[in-house]
Amino acid sequence: MKWINHQIVTGFIVCTATNDALFTASSIVGAVIPDRVEGSPPQDSSAYWKWRKKHRTWSHYPLIYLALIAAAQVAQEYYPEPTLAFALNLITYALVGALLHIAEDGICGKVPLFTPHKKYGVKLFKVGSWREYFFAALIILICLFVRFGDIEQLRSYFNL
Ligand SMILES: [Zn+2]
Repeated sequence: MKWINHQIVTGFIVCTATNDALFTASSIVGAVIPDRVEGSPPQDSSAYWKWRKKHRTWSHYPLIYLALIAAAQVAQEYYPEPTLAFALNLITYALVGALLHIAEDGICGKVPLFTPHKKYGVKLFKVGSWREYFFAALIILICLFVRFGDIEQLRSYFNL
């Protein structure tokens, strides 16, 4: 999935779930973390294949992000200071964004699940294809439907 679609889809999902602008913004930032930590692919061909071999392994390993979320929650329990709690919440939603990125990659390729080097996934569409945009639009529609309850409300919202 393209970065822009990762960010839009993740933003809609988190906004629907939390109805919080800051958490949504945080998740949008986090939605590109797994690709960002890999760096951009090198131009040199041998370096590229070395990079490619490690592509979507540790950087896309969900347990790392889950462990960091758990650590943030534990830190909140032990240090219930409001500013720190707020910062940890923002970090948590950035990590949620990273997890959603991995799930989104899992529907257009393979990502690690139980171990960093064994990958699972379904290929519902090719990255950058019209199907990807269709999929992103579908998820947005589902989010809007969940958010606004029923079709009548949705219709009145869009003046249809
Ligand atoms: Zn990715």
